Amino acid sequence: MSRNNFNFNTTYASLGDSFFELVNPTPVKTPQLLLFNQAFAKELGLQMDQWDGNNGSFPQELAPLLSGNQLFEGSAPMAQAYAGHQFGYFNMLGDGRAILLGEHIAPNQKRFDIQLKGSGPTPYSRRGDGRATLRAMLREYLISEAMYGLGIPTSRSLAVVTTGEKVYREEIQDGAILTRVMQSHIRVGSFEYVNHYLTKDELVAYTNYTLARHYPTQVESANPALALLKQVLIQQVHLIVHWMRVGFIHGVMNTDNMSISGETFDYGPCAFMNGYDPAKVFSSIDTNGRYAFANQPGIAHWNLSCLANALLPIIDEDQTKAIELAKDVLNLFPNLYTEAYTTMMGAKIGFNQNQLSEEVIELIKSLLNWMKENQADYTNTFLHIQSVLIPEGIYTSSFFAEWLLKRETLLNKEGSSKEQAIAIMQLQNPLVIPRNHWVEKVLDSVSYTNDLTQFNSFLTALQSPYLQTTNIEIYQAPPENGDGFYATFCGT
Ligand code: AMP
Ligand code: MG
Repeated sequence: MSRNNFNFNTTYASLGDSFFELVNPTPVKTPQLLLFNQAFAKELGLQMDQWDGNNGSFPQELAPLLSGNQLFEGSAPMAQAYAGHQFGYFNMLGDGRAILLGEHIAPNQKRFDIQLKGSGPTPYSRRGDGRATLRAMLREYLISEAMYGLGIPTSRSLAVVTTGEKVYREEIQDGAILTRVMQSHIRVGSFEYVNHYLTKDELVAYTNYTLARHYPTQVESANPALALLKQVLIQQVHLIVHWMRVGFIHGVMNTDNMSISGETFDYGPCAFMNGYDPAKVFSSIDTNGRYAFANQPGIAHWNLSCLANALLPIIDEDQTKAIELAKDVLNLFPNLYTEAYTTMMGAKIGFNQNQLSEEVIELIKSLLNWMKENQADYTNTFLHIQSVLIPEGIYTSSFFAEWLLKRETLLNKEGSSKEQAIAIMQLQNPLVIPRNHWVEKVLDSVSYTNDLTQFNSFLTALQSPYLQTTNIEIYQAPPENGDGFYATFCGT
């Protein structure tokens, strides 16, 4: 691998030009590297000229490359075609403001898409400008890296470059480009596109390609399409259980935003919940609460049924049989999810069994009911159970004291010590999450004073959320007035 470059080997190009449009990023006025993920760059094996990374500066020679003003050697940029169900309705979409620079092979032989987001219009932009705001890209950088710190499969953020150009939204904002890195950007909606607009042969080719790329042990399956559906289902169960563990609300679980690899991505309107409310929604456009916190598993299941539908023509020649086979796989979801979810919730209160007793399941239910009634903080309640925080407010109530006693009795009954329970909980319960008021506060300090100090301190805390490091207390307090009218916006 030469210096200042990725080790590109872009297999997506071999699928043929019905799957993408070759298009270059549109140059920007004055690209400046504002954020650079040094640790991740190292993992990717990216070697930079004239930069030792020691004095806190960034390798500015990458700014023209990570803005798309210049092309990395070996890059043949493309916008990928995809469709998707947005809030339940089918649409043709595609990369309208993102461009894939190429697939990079890291030193550990893992393959990653290197994508610029906010890199200018493409044939799929429709009426959009192809651009992104600095605030939204900083937010994505922060939250995706927080998710990574939490141990949740996610797209990563390598860099944010400011463009020196303005972006026109409800108000005029600074523009930026994010370098997004992911195992691939193949979506449920990618399959919907192929099924809807391309040939059956292309659907077969795409299915084989995706299996080889993400689930290579399954390529020899007797029924590749069915094998793919099952693998994606398993990964989605795993992913959603993680989201439920930390109180993450994705906010726009359209089928084009659900990855086949099972990574969280598209961080537009997402947010973490403070007070527990299963019906919690932050996204300003989700007026019916379709993507509310507790709806996420059901929506993931619905999205998988869209994937199944797209794969039907190649699951079996006989449509009735294809539907039956697909249903058999889809019907695995409820049990797999419930099992994984209860195991996770059990671990959040210190129980380490795959098969929780009815009493422990009741214990979890009574806790969640009480949390809902009291709008108890989703993160801190478990830290109180873990004896990490000093009891105050509702955590000094008789209900909570009695609940803790019941829990202790059940732990004793299972022969589990307090120490063992705490060790289990420490792996599940983050000490810090990107609380909305802090996210806004650090984004404000970058936007209004151009100062990254607060942003970087917060980012550092979020990168090791299970470690009791110094100065994390400030990030642990929920907002004084709850989430109030906090709202997030898409497509910014
Ligand atoms: P999202 O809401 O980010 O999942 O985007 C949905 C669709 O809108 C995708 O096809 C995006 O590429 C496209 N899109 C979002 N924002 C823009 C923009 N500013 N310019 C062009 N296309 C956009
Ligand atoms: Mg999207």
